[in-house]
Amino acid sequence: MTRENDRERLVEVLSRSERIHRESVLEAIGAVPRHEFVPDSHTQQAYHDRPLPIGHGQTISAPHMVAIMTDRLALSPEDRVLEIGTGCGYHAAVVAEIVDTTVYSVEFQPELAESAQRQLDRLGYDVTVTAGDGHDGWPEHAPYDAAYLTCATPELPDPIVEQIATGGRIVAPVGTGRQQLLIAEKESDGSLTRRTDGYVQFVPMRG
Ligand code: SAH
Repeated sequence: MTRENDRERLVEVLSRSERIHRESVLEAIGAVPRHEFVPDSHTQQAYHDRPLPIGHGQTISAPHMVAIMTDRLALSPEDRVLEIGTGCGYHAAVVAEIVDTTVYSVEFQPELAESAQRQLDRLGYDVTVTAGDGHDGWPEHAPYDAAYLTCATPELPDPIVEQIATGGRIVAPVGTGRQQLLIAEKESDGSLTRRTDGYVQFVPMRG
């Protein structure tokens, strides 16, 4: 079952919300089989716009949040992207629909890293997952044009900021307690221009 109609309806909901500005993001959401990433117990709800459990006390973000974060990354096909917090791999698959190069993703929980890599490979997504602490970023593949975190941090870890190219973007839930979605861009002097885009709720970054 491909669930194309369910995805079309979800894209309509997101499109009507007027919070997603890039057609490429809506197309990506319309293409990625979210039901392949959620546990069997939740495949019926796979195309509802809400977070779902993925085991190990973690959740897959609601589709609108994946779409907003991806939209704000302002991706071009040639961009190199770093993800911190692979989870089940759904968000990485959405990004992989937009960019032409490998997406690099770091996941703290080894079992999740392994199962996400397996599923992404099976579905043919060009994503390379490593198990590790995302506080260090992934220096081997830097510099990145864009990076995003799917777990909340009090402040952006310095290594991640260092691994971003000039003009690159970082999107991350930032804050303890009340979190805000931070959208940052790296200037030529290495500093970050920052703005926030609403309150969000993500699992805290571990490690
Ligand atoms: N984007 C994911 C959502 C993942 S939820 C998806 O589409 O499913 C957040 C993830 O961040 C969890 O899998 C959690 O294990 C991971 N995480 C938490 N702390 C981390 C850290 N320090 N480094 C890397 N990943 C981390």
